[in-house]
Amino acid sequence: MALVEILSERCKGCGLCVQACPKQNLSIGDKFNASGYNYVVWNDQGCTGCAFCAELCPDIAIRVYRPKKEKQAQKA
Ligand code: SF4
Ligand code: SF4
Repeated sequence: MALVEILSERCKGCGLCVQACPKQNLSIGDKFNASGYNYVVWNDQGCTGCAFCAELCPDIAIRVYRPKKEKQAQKA
């Protein structure tokens, strides 16, 4: 399963990532960062690790970590 890290101090609460997530894993939280923005929170509901959220974020505030794929067995 993928893991998403929100760099809350970079987030401006624009909501682009919220709309981009096909699994509705992201929402604008009720806490403020030091710049006064409500930042996004990740509520994992089956994150696929697609990274749409990270690619769309204009402030590079999201990091997506995917598990390494297991090596496929070599054919004899
Ligand atoms: S990696 Fe994909 S599924 Fe996971 S939170 Fe981001 S947009 Fe949603
Ligand atoms: S796209 Fe980036 S700046 Fe906008 S709400 Fe999401 S994490 Fe915050």
